[in-house]
Amino acid sequence: MAIIGGGISGLATAYMLMRTSDLRVAVLEAGLAGHGATGNNGGQAVEGTEAGFREIASIVGEERAVQGFRELAGAMDELDRMVGKVGPPGMLAKVAGRMGIADQGLLEQRIEDLRARRAAGLDSGKVHFADDALIGLQAEGPREPRALLARQLWSKDQRYIAFIEMRMGLINTWDLVEKIASHLRSEAPERFSIYERSPARLLRLSEEDVTIGCNGRIMVASSAVLCTNGYLCPRIEACSPPFVKGKVKGVVGYMVGFEDGSGPEGARAYFPGGKDYYYLSRKKTRTNWLTAVGGPEGSISGEYDEGTVYHPDAYSQLGSFISSTLGLSYPPARRWQGLMGYTSTGIRIAGQDPRLPALYYNMGCNGIGILSALAGARRLADDMGGEDQEPSMFDPEAMAGARITMDGHERAHRP
Ligand SMILES: Cc1cc2nc3c(=O)[nH]c(=O)nc-3n(C[C@H](O)[C@H](O)[C@H](O)COP(=O)(O)OP(=O)(O)OC[C@H]3O[C@@H](n4cnc5c(N)ncnc54)[C@H](O)[C@@H]3O)c2cc1C
Repeated sequence: MAIIGGGISGLATAYMLMRTSDLRVAVLEAGLAGHGATGNNGGQAVEGTEAGFREIASIVGEERAVQGFRELAGAMDELDRMVGKVGPPGMLAKVAGRMGIADQGLLEQRIEDLRARRAAGLDSGKVHFADDALIGLQAEGPREPRALLARQLWSKDQRYIAFIEMRMGLINTWDLVEKIASHLRSEAPERFSIYERSPARLLRLSEEDVTIGCNGRIMVASSAVLCTNGYLCPRIEACSPPFVKGKVKGVVGYMVGFEDGSGPEGARAYFPGGKDYYYLSRKKTRTNWLTAVGGPEGSISGEYDEGTVYHPDAYSQLGSFISSTLGLSYPPARRWQGLMGYTSTGIRIAGQDPRLPALYYNMGCNGIGILSALAGARRLADDMGGEDQEPSMFDPEAMAGARITMDGHERAHRP
């Protein structure tokens, strides 16, 4: 079995397959493992998707949406167990995440979404309201002075009328990928290998196997899993086009980091109004505290070059938000970007290609992708192990009802 892509999707898929099968697993990584989106994210493990639960249900049907959200909740427990096996204690911080909302219309939508999740038997969040806002809004939850609400959001801007609190994890996924790879190498060196600087350029698919062209050599595998996120897919020669063709679009996300401050650790998200959205993670690193803030993003076409800043305004947008809301002193200690892959539904694709049985996918991060990478890995492992599976939003077939077009990607689809 060959896994193409050495980010969290690729390594989580390898980890699950190694546990549930006798397969020999080889991971091919074009650059260095964990240096894609996995090494450039906010580290927030969130049991959710960019689009809200009701929107997802309207695209894939309620049954698949409920199952998918259950799988995301299961992925949080899976992450906990995985970290217990591969990492040092404390690698995954369990924190209360808070999402501040300034706009009443958006808040009403979010409350409806939480209700729909609860009605479907899913875990949902708790809303805290500002005591001077929301006249007429029928919702349960504590009411607090705005200043206190802002303090809990680590915001000096008091425009937020409510926040939603939910369980979250904070994790350095680059570090996790390194730990998974060394764990698998030491547990089963005869069954697991990872090759860095090994771009898969060509996949030739037959009924029985996959021939992969990489670094001028040929490798044959029983099947292949594409975990390539928003990067261009390798050339695929097969009797019909691969299912993902034209369905994943590259989107670059931007972040800045401050290496001062102190605890508590935690995650925050902000909807200050309009389509803007920002998120913040504060975590102790081995040597320091890191406060990372992101939000702006923009699409690209063609091959991604990590040295090109595609949307230079992104950093000034972040600067304005940070000075008005967080009061951290600009410029930041670090700034960086990462490539994401948005699917046409905004939902990860995890499963077997409907027409090419030797080809599988666990790809398309859609902004919030850490837990869905694990959920996708678990689904693939169960599928290949012959287990019956409930239909889920992650199935390639679920895209049949796609409503969001590739050109329609915009930040309004954030949760
Ligand atoms: C700025 C930013 C902030 C984010 N914040 C969060 C967050 O807080 N919470 C959250 O849940 N998600 C977040 N995400 C999304 C999250 O990082 C991704 O969902 C996740 O890392 C995707 O992992 P992946 O393995 O699918 O992709 P990647 O980590 O991008 O890995 C794909 C790998 O495939 C390799 N590859 C591509 N083509 C080939 C080929 N032909 N041959 C071999 N290798 C190939 C690439 O080199 C790359 O290493 C964020 C993303 C960004 C960019």
